[in-house]
Amino acid sequence: MKTLACREAGFDCDYVVKGETEEEIMRSGEEHAVNVHGMKKEDCTPEFKEKLRGLIKDTWCKTLAWSEDKTRFKNNNLGQI
Ligand SMILES: [Zn+2]
Repeated sequence: MKTLACREAGFDCDYVVKGETEEEIMRSGEEHAVNVHGMKKEDCTPEFKEKLRGLIKDTWCKTLAWSEDKTRFKNNNLGQI
């Protein structure tokens, strides 16, 4: 799962674009910018898209790290018993 916070793209907006792939994010991000922020298709320049691409975050890593932490926490607890 990948996310892109609209705020980080420079909009005063709490919307977060979610998608499984970068392409999906770029597509829904563009749609959101056009529908909600009144951006025109021609405003979505390659430079703008490149900027957006750099802001995409991979949330799998966080989720994975969290579940690994939880396992470690559990193991630690068992070790203390
Ligand atoms: Zn927005």
